[in-house]
Amino acid sequence: MKKFICLILIFILVFSFCACVPQSKEASMEAMDTYMNFKVFGSNSMYAIEEIQDEVKALEGSLSATDKKSEIFGLNNNGQAKLSGDTIELVNRSLELCDSLGGALDISVYPIVREWGFISGDYKVPSGSEIEELLTKVNYKNIKVDNNTVTLKDGMQLDLGAVAKGYAADKCLDIVGNEALKSAILNFGGTVATYGLKPDGSRWKVAITDPDNTSEYFGYLSCETAVVATSGGYERYFEKDGKTYIHIINPETGYPVDNGVKSVSVVCSEGVYADALSTALYVMGKDKAMEYFKKHRDFDFIILTDDNKMYISSGISADFTLCDGYDYEIVNIL
Ligand code: AMP
Ligand code: MG
Repeated sequence: MKKFICLILIFILVFSFCACVPQSKEASMEAMDTYMNFKVFGSNSMYAIEEIQDEVKALEGSLSATDKKSEIFGLNNNGQAKLSGDTIELVNRSLELCDSLGGALDISVYPIVREWGFISGDYKVPSGSEIEELLTKVNYKNIKVDNNTVTLKDGMQLDLGAVAKGYAADKCLDIVGNEALKSAILNFGGTVATYGLKPDGSRWKVAITDPDNTSEYFGYLSCETAVVATSGGYERYFEKDGKTYIHIINPETGYPVDNGVKSVSVVCSEGVYADALSTALYVMGKDKAMEYFKKHRDFDFIILTDDNKMYISSGISADFTLCDGYDYEIVNIL
């Protein structure tokens, strides 16, 4: 009898100990051309982390412009395709954003991105006439959507690279919510989603990469539930004859952006919007980006320029910490 009571007591002790320690799970994977890392906390951590990885793999499988089995690859090669739920949802949302961002975001920019070599890594500076010719294929207004069927005007091709990670962030935050997790930090490489507070009750810290030394961070943002998307020329670029060409293209000219911006980070609650904005504000340049912000005010931003000025919207200025050793001039935008 004594032994039995002892066993029950041990069981109760072990059970209550397990209940107090928050369960957590961490995983890393390579997907969407980048390195991703996920940490989740809560009793369903184990299921959630698997669901998150499966979701990312499934999205990559549908959205990739280079994977021959993907829906977007099929659409690009046939000019027409019936797309599945997530893919059509992202195309529709992206088209709305291309419009509201005045064409600075254009998901039909793929032929130009490819010509510069940003897909194959076989970089080259195309001739002016090649660019002129390819620009005739770039205009998101020529993408027709009828229910789930998308039709592209002759020779057009889609590239969802500017928005796919943000969309993945939204879908994975849905999983975190559905699995009733306590907190999470999901790093999609350049796009980071945070949920709730850290298990110790403090806010998450999202580090912002130093464009001049990508192994370092110039600062960090403290966040609760949010998505932080950063676009930087440093992610993919090449140099030719002393000039640097980055992977973010101005859809109006067909040339890589060269406007004094070094990186753009955007914070908001919707991942696709944050991701679309970080790319589009980069294209717009500091002044037009600021004009867009003042008209919309449904996000926050940090824009770092070549002269080491850091423009930050007032909604997040109290959440930002500049790291030691950085003497950036901080300009607060009201
Ligand atoms: P991000 O890292 O989110 O800024 O996305 C950059 C990627 O989006 C590039 O590698 C291209 O594949 C694609 N891209 C480049 N310029 C544009 C643009 N103006 N609009 C839409 N997508 C673009
Ligand atoms: Mg983007």
